[in-house]
Amino acid sequence: MHKLNRPTEPIDLNQARRTYNGIPPQKQAWKEFDKDEVREQLKAAQSGLCAYCEVALSSKTNIDHFEPKHRHYALTFDWNNLVLSCDEKGSCDNKKGGKFEPYWINPYLTDPIGMFTFYSNGQIEGTSTDAQNMIKDFGLDCPRLEGKRQGILHTLQETILSLMDFPDALEAYLESEEAIMFPTGYTQVINRITGA
Ligand SMILES: [Zn+2]
Repeated sequence: MHKLNRPTEPIDLNQARRTYNGIPPQKQAWKEFDKDEVREQLKAAQSGLCAYCEVALSSKTNIDHFEPKHRHYALTFDWNNLVLSCDEKGSCDNKKGGKFEPYWINPYLTDPIGMFTFYSNGQIEGTSTDAQNMIKDFGLDCPRLEGKRQGILHTLQETILSLMDFPDALEAYLESEEAIMFPTGYTQVINRITGA
């Protein structure tokens, strides 16, 4: 997870927010709302990655209400409350569902830097009790994500280690490669090995 910058509120959402008075109920109002613009803006702001687990988003995405909309109808169309997440079983919005905990970090509002440690075997560790709990609540340690992270981070680590005696080649590799997903873990692995 890394800090995200929220773009300007989409016009469609702004209009819906101004006119919505709680009728019909949140669930129905949200269902009827044309979410294309919101989805597009969030996807661009998140570089095509899930805001929570940083997996590359497929065509199947979910606009998550960070704080569930059933808590207050005003949260339904609140731009600051919307986050684009993956829609796969066992993690992220699929896992958090309609729950809410005050220690959760919304990466659009709070910089989660230093909260999570990623390892090349795909594992993730929280650096505080809150971070540990958040990993569990969001399923960030689910086998599917650990496997995907390992696939990328292990290869990255092996490549860096094989180039350690060739500084120019290593530099060229690190400059040319960009994390297609898991940028936080990717940067951590590079920094840990190269001592950056
Ligand atoms: Zn996710």
